[in-house]
Amino acid sequence: TRRIGVIFLDLDRFTAVNDSIGHGAGDLVLAQAARRLRATVPVHDTVARWGSDEFAVLVENAGSPAELAELAERLVGAISAEPFRVAGQQIALTASVGVAQAGRDSGTPDHPDDPTGLVLRNADVAMSRAKEAGGDRAEVYAAHMHADVVRRLEIVTGLQRAISNGELTLQYQPIVELATSRVVGAEALVRWWRDGEVVAPREFLGVAEESGLIVPLGEWVLRQACAQGAAWRRASWDVGVSVNLSGRQITAPGFTARVAAILAETGLPSTALTVEVNERILVEEDGLIADRLAELHQMGVRMAIDDFGIGYASLAHLRQVPLDIIKIDPSFVAGLGHDDTLTLLTKTVVQVGRELGLRVIAEGIEQPRQLSALREMGCDYGQGFLVARPMAAPGVEALMRTEGVRTSGEAPGGPAKHEPNEPARLGM
Ligand code: C2E
Ligand code: MG
Ligand code: MG
Repeated sequence: TRRIGVIFLDLDRFTAVNDSIGHGAGDLVLAQAARRLRATVPVHDTVARWGSDEFAVLVENAGSPAELAELAERLVGAISAEPFRVAGQQIALTASVGVAQAGRDSGTPDHPDDPTGLVLRNADVAMSRAKEAGGDRAEVYAAHMHADVVRRLEIVTGLQRAISNGELTLQYQPIVELATSRVVGAEALVRWWRDGEVVAPREFLGVAEESGLIVPLGEWVLRQACAQGAAWRRASWDVGVSVNLSGRQITAPGFTARVAAILAETGLPSTALTVEVNERILVEEDGLIADRLAELHQMGVRMAIDDFGIGYASLAHLRQVPLDIIKIDPSFVAGLGHDDTLTLLTKTVVQVGRELGLRVIAEGIEQPRQLSALREMGCDYGQGFLVARPMAAPGVEALMRTEGVRTSGEAPGGPAKHEPNEPARLGM
């Protein structure tokens, strides 16, 4: 049997187009887009403008899912094949496209009188999935997508509560000078205590980012970590704290002022705060992010590039923001001692970092042979389960007191003891 099929199409980043060429010219682009879609869809099927930059295609007698998907792919191509020309300008656009069909692996019953509503919803869900995957593509609706949407909604409502109810906590993973075992800083890592179980950040950070909840969440993390860092420093430990930042947090209105206010409020010197940004953020070439990071750096805050080396950033990107620290991704460290290529790459990053005057921190040190390889190649700092796991703040204090981190394969409490009041040689 043939069934109703719906294709939903949303232009990617169209708001930016409107902002740059104006709404009048933006409308002309939309009209051209509509013509391209109309020319691609068979004459007996309907193309409708659905929202500002959204279109829906109703295929009344859809054949196989493969046929529908093929049409969807052609629509993606119709938008991206060549730039739009408006007011003497060329505008390259892409589209996110979702496909759904009544009664087909869609959780939609075949019989109801009006299955179109459900099919539309499903096509919309698939379209969002295409958008999340970066746009310029088509996705076919599958039943699990709906379950995903429900799960995300649950996370959003749960997280809202978590922030106000104090269900979030921070763990701190020590950052250690490899030669001496000295703890020079600690990275704050957020945890969510949900119904007595700890939820790892990767379970909820994506949803927090999409929903915008990352902004209040990130602010809470920053305030908490700065307060902790200030408390440690008052106890005469010259350590710094590192906080991870997401893109949306950095571009939120008033970001720089909020960081300054939190530093003032907690009494943490700006030079004792390190912010970590993923190298992906730098590649997106968002001028606003680079500007904001430069403002922080101007205030004295240290800048670290996180998960460096997994292929998004080139060395050229390292010059776009004022950097102080490179954190080598664990996938490199994992290969040390048995994978020649990874070993060579790690050695290169360590050398380049040195030559650029940057501090290099190796992440994910789990085995003694990785540790000795890193020392041999002159990597000065490290983090990892072998050295110390993420832990509650008192655990870090105990380590600072005893210098009990394992950086030599010896028992905890190893060689580099020093008095808590000893002036630190390094601060992060
Ligand atoms: P990251 O910033 O690269 O943090 C390091 C992650 O590696 C942490 O995972 C840590 O527990 C884990 N790790 C440390 N040593 C080892 C090791 O030796 N082996 C292995 N296998 N893993 C190790 P976690 O806490 O699950 O955090 C994951 C990511 O979530 C972080 O990666 C960071 O990007 C993000 N994140 C965590 N807290 C926050 C936060 O407060 N705000 C933001 N925006 N992102 C956060
Ligand atoms: Mg990090
Ligand atoms: Mg990392």
